[in-house]
Amino acid sequence: MPRRLQVYETAEITVTFEPDLCIHSGVCVRGLPAVFDVRRRRWVMPELGAAAAIAAQIGHCPSGALKYRLKTEDAPAP
Ligand code: SF4
Repeated sequence: MPRRLQVYETAEITVTFEPDLCIHSGVCVRGLPAVFDVRRRRWVMPELGAAAAIAAQIGHCPSGALKYRLKTEDAPAP
């Protein structure tokens, strides 16, 4: 049975993680260890990093297991 999509949110960014896609490269935990820490039960904590830095780090995920959406992109133009 496929494992459930995980969703982690702050006011600025939504991070999603698809466990079945992860190849355990460790790129995320090495790049931003405060945000991505597999020793925690809630292993992704986007509130512990800057949204732009998290977005950049997720861009390096080799499997596509991690994805993000910046909420500022949804904001209407001033
Ligand atoms: S960078 Fe992507 S593939 Fe590598 S451990 Fe993190 S989520 Fe998994």
